[in-house]
Amino acid sequence: MPSTMPTQRDYYEVLGVEQTATVVEIKSAYKKIAVKNHPDRNPGDEEATARFKEASEAYAVLSDEDKRARYDRFGHAGVQGGAGGFQDVGDIFESFGDLFGGLFGGAGGRRSRGGGRRGDSLRTSITIDLHEAARGCTRDLEIPRREPCGTCGGNGAKPGTEPVVCDYCGGSGQVVQSQGFFRMQTTCPNCGGTGKVIREKCIDCTGTGRIRENVTLEVTVPPGVDNGMQLQLRGEGEAGTGGGPRGDLFVDVRVKKHPLFDRDGDDLHCRIPVSYTQAVLGATVEVPTLDGKQEVEIKPGTQPESVIRLRGEGMPDPHGRGRGDLNVHVQLEVPKKVSGRHEELLRELAEIEHVDVMPHRKTWFERVTEYFTGGEEE
Ligand SMILES: [Zn+2]
Ligand SMILES: [Zn+2]
Repeated sequence: MPSTMPTQRDYYEVLGVEQTATVVEIKSAYKKIAVKNHPDRNPGDEEATARFKEASEAYAVLSDEDKRARYDRFGHAGVQGGAGGFQDVGDIFESFGDLFGGLFGGAGGRRSRGGGRRGDSLRTSITIDLHEAARGCTRDLEIPRREPCGTCGGNGAKPGTEPVVCDYCGGSGQVVQSQGFFRMQTTCPNCGGTGKVIREKCIDCTGTGRIRENVTLEVTVPPGVDNGMQLQLRGEGEAGTGGGPRGDLFVDVRVKKHPLFDRDGDDLHCRIPVSYTQAVLGATVEVPTLDGKQEVEIKPGTQPESVIRLRGEGMPDPHGRGRGDLNVHVQLEVPKKVSGRHEELLRELAEIEHVDVMPHRKTWFERVTEYFTGGEEE
């Protein structure tokens, strides 16, 4: 019989650790999952947020000796209320923010103490070509984002009035709830964690303190950026509320495929056609590079598929560690059709090389002539 109860995954399974895992192992497993699924890194991705919360819940229990012991004996029932108590992501930061160090937003938390909530992070993408990726470039981006309301100055209160201290939580933004043995700190439901309430709302922003606007930002793409990389613009996300800091803006960079160059890390690859005679006798050919053209020597006796490496003609390293190489792949070009003197010379060459070649194809006219003169038949 399928259960109608919502299933809750085993905490050890959630963190991917053994039941015998040490505190250090549990902490490191949690950190990995939390950093990967962090809401700041995955704005708008509800699944990531769900995984983040699930892992945080598991960590809250397994990192606490008492709770873990109860969980080991009684399962989820043993820690009810003590674990599933995260109202939102902000609560998780209140509890474990210091675990993330300076990884997110510098503050290690989404909500600054004493009210104020950090604005959401935004995500957008830009497409550039390979030359722009090589040299770096700037782009103007127009993004809709929440800006502090100019009418109320961002506090959400009708001009002439001020937000007042929340009497439910006394201005701390947090309330402590007790359930049996368990004490749990949660966000104040009256003020939403800001510690203040607005009696008379600003009309323009309906008390939210923020207004959605289209803003234009200049994004600088550093040289060497590769397809799929993400730029983080700190403090360019949505405005915070109640004096909280702005979120970040994440820009996914796509680099268009180039018709001549294939990229592999910092190295580039291109193909140049070389004729049989050039390969045998040697030649100087023009090769395209990112900066224009370069003359390259094909040595006598060059083999098909050989690679000529032009050092330092690849992409700059995005971390500033020099430039990659351009690998020029020699493609032996075979003419589709030859005729006249060209064909005669090749047939002579075949004789010298003692190789069999296809007989000369007789034309219709030659065949007809042979027919009437009784010439040899094929
Ligand atoms: Zn306003
Ligand atoms: Zn409150």
